[in-house]
Amino acid sequence: MAKVHELLREGVTYSFEFGPPRTPEMEEVLSRTLVALEPLGPSYVSVTYGAGGSTRERTHELVVSINRSTTMTAMAHLTCATHTRAELAEIIERYRDAGIENILALGGDPPADVELPEGELKYSIELVRLIRSIGDFSIGVAAHPEPHPRSPSHADDRLRTAEKLREADFAITQFFFDAEHYFDLVEAMRAQGVDKPIVPGIMPVTSLRAIERMAALQGSEFPAWLRAKLEAVGDDPKAVRAIGVDEATKLCRTLLDGGAPGLHFYTMNRSTATREIYQALGLTPAH
Ligand SMILES: Cc1cc2nc3c(=O)[nH]c(=O)nc-3n(C[C@H](O)[C@H](O)[C@H](O)COP(=O)(O)OP(=O)(O)OC[C@H]3O[C@@H](n4cnc5c(N)ncnc54)[C@H](O)[C@@H]3O)c2cc1C
Repeated sequence: MAKVHELLREGVTYSFEFGPPRTPEMEEVLSRTLVALEPLGPSYVSVTYGAGGSTRERTHELVVSINRSTTMTAMAHLTCATHTRAELAEIIERYRDAGIENILALGGDPPADVELPEGELKYSIELVRLIRSIGDFSIGVAAHPEPHPRSPSHADDRLRTAEKLREADFAITQFFFDAEHYFDLVEAMRAQGVDKPIVPGIMPVTSLRAIERMAALQGSEFPAWLRAKLEAVGDDPKAVRAIGVDEATKLCRTLLDGGAPGLHFYTMNRSTATREIYQALGLTPAH
């Protein structure tokens, strides 16, 4: 077991994100992915949480089982949305009692089509404080290189991000396609005196339609040059993923050259794109 902010202090981290599977078939896919990615020796892996509590048990089980049954360190995501303070405290205490040391504290995006209660904690900074009060965790938060869609302004989002990062140990960003958005975020944090590590989130494009939908949801610009490049190979899924991997590799290089403290890969529970980028970056299992 290891704390993420301590790993970040030791050197560049490489981490992978997974989601708890919903069906036996998806469970099978994830098992194969874990087997394929474990030999790469990630610094840590993380497991998402369904805002609203839809994956409450499954996230817990997957985090604990990765920690117990693999060589990988797992971090749990947790979201405030719709939960009471007491529910969140219980979830955090269970992690503490199971020996989990890392939690990513998030606001959460509960499903819009289901009627759910408000939730007692409004912003992720309150969850950071609650986690801190319960155990000796390494606590991460989300950062949005292109400001969060609910933010009233770019400046306000940068201010809120600095406030929460001051109290957390590190941040992981939403995905983006232009490295300048990331460098602008880091600079804005430094200008406010916040020098905690900010790990860029990397999403390799493997399907044009899927990525456009996700980018629109989270407020990321999907650049016209990348769309044009992908549209040029249109119906050839192999060519689309080759471009996606190539562009993600270039982005990773630019970020590392610019001083990024790590790379966090959104794997979507698949291993191929991440393995290909790893290889293209010349990373060996032991880095
Ligand atoms: C690495 C990563 C992993 C993620 N994993 C998950 C996951 O597992 N499950 C999931 O549901 N979602 C996940 N998300 C998405 C995230 O939950 C959404 O982006 C959500 O809408 C915002 O989360 P946040 O933690 O940034 O929220 P917050 O920090 O609460 O911020 C939300 C909005 O409120 C504003 N704000 C913050 N504090 C204040 C304040 N004090 N006063 C006024 N405004 C304020 C912010 O500027 C922002 O606009 C993830 C995102 C990232 C980057």
